[in-house]
Amino acid sequence: MGDFNLTVILDAIRRSPGGLSRVELAQIVGLSPQTISNISRRLLDQSLIVEAGKEGTGPGKPRTMLRLNPAGMYAVGVHLDPAVLTFVVLDLVGAVVKHSRVKTPSGADPGAVIGTIAAEINQLVADSGVDRAKIAGLGVASPGPIDLEEGTVVDPPLLLGWHRVPLRDALAEATGLSTLVDKDVTSAAVAETWAGGPSGAGSFVFMYMGTGIGCGIVLNDEVVRGTSGNAGEIGHIMVDPDGPPCDCGIRGCVKSSCIPQVLVAQAEAAGILDGSRQDRSAPAIQDSFAELCAAAYAGNEKAAEIIDKSAVLVARAVSSVTNTLDVDRVVFGGPFWTSLSQAYLARIPGLVEESSATRKIHAIEVVGTGVGEDVAAIGAACLVLEHMLAPRSQRLLLEG
Ligand SMILES: [Zn+2]
Repeated sequence: MGDFNLTVILDAIRRSPGGLSRVELAQIVGLSPQTISNISRRLLDQSLIVEAGKEGTGPGKPRTMLRLNPAGMYAVGVHLDPAVLTFVVLDLVGAVVKHSRVKTPSGADPGAVIGTIAAEINQLVADSGVDRAKIAGLGVASPGPIDLEEGTVVDPPLLLGWHRVPLRDALAEATGLSTLVDKDVTSAAVAETWAGGPSGAGSFVFMYMGTGIGCGIVLNDEVVRGTSGNAGEIGHIMVDPDGPPCDCGIRGCVKSSCIPQVLVAQAEAAGILDGSRQDRSAPAIQDSFAELCAAAYAGNEKAAEIIDKSAVLVARAVSSVTNTLDVDRVVFGGPFWTSLSQAYLARIPGLVEESSATRKIHAIEVVGTGVGEDVAAIGAACLVLEHMLAPRSQRLLLEG
C-alpha cells in the first residue's frame, strides 16, 4: 500500500466538497474496499480527513461521509511583487486563515527583501494561531524568469539586482519551512483551479495584470509550465504597429503599450497626473495608476481614453493567446486588476468574441478572478497543498 494510493484518495475527497463515502471512493478510484478502509483509517489517524455525518435516503444503512479536515494541515504562500509583498496562511481546503501585506523594500538588495519576507512569515504564523508543526511548507510566487529546478530568480526586468538569486533555498533556510517557487502568473492560475470555482475549470488563460503583463495557462485542468517553468511570457506580442518602441527592438508590444508605468506616463504627458513627481518606484506607480483609473471613472475624458485604448490593445494580445490555445475562458486578475476591471469588462469581452477564430463553435467567456486580490499568494500556498495531495506519476514511479 504505497503513498500513491493515499494521495489518489485524498485527491478524490478534495475534489468532492460534499465528501465521499467509502463505497463511492472505491468506485471512483478503482481500489478494493479493503484498501480504501485501510487508507481512510490512516488518514483519519493523521487528522487529514474527518468523518462528517451520514448520508443515504434509499434502502440499506446510511453511509459515513469522508471529508478533508480543514485544520489537518496548513500552507503558507507569499507573493513577491516589485511593489508589494502579500502573505497568506491557507488551511487544507484552501481557505484563507490569515493574510497580510507589506510594501516591498526598495533598492536593489535581495537580501533585505528575503529578510523582510522571513520576518513577516514568522509574524503571520504567530498571529494566525496555527500550530507551526502543521504547516506543510511555503510556496513563493515570483516574477519571472525563474529557474524552476534551481529555485532561482533570474534577472526579472522589474526587480533590479536580482541576478540568479537562490530564493527557494534562502527562504527555506530563513524560515525552516520546505519551500517551493513558481512564477507569479502560474501561481495565479493554480489558485484559480483550486479556489476560483467555475472560472477555474477546464481550459483557460489567466491574464495577470501586474507591474508587467503575463499569462498563466491551464489546458484541460492541467497547469502548463513549459520546459523551464516560464510559459506565458506574452509581453512582446505586438498589438500596435505605431506604438511606442519596446526594449526588444520592435514597436507597440503589449508591454511597451499597456503596462501601468506606460499608462501613467501617458497620463502625465496629457496633464491628467502631476508629471513632476520624482518617485518612479513600483509602489509609487501603483498609487499613480489608481489615481488615473479613478479620474477615468469620475468622467475625465482623457483619462477614460487612455484606459479604453489600453483595453483595445490588451484585447488584441488576449485574442492571439486564445486563438493559439483554444480555451473556454479568459480570467483577469493581479494587483492592477481591481482598478481596471470595470473598464476592461465593459470592453474586452466583445473584442475577444469578434476576433475569435472559433466564435461559430464556442463562446469565450471573459471574467475577473474568483479568488480576489491575493490570488498569486493563494496560488503559491496551493502549490504546497498540491505537492502534498495531488497524485503524480513521479510518486508512482518512485514509491509505487
Ligand atoms: Zn517588445
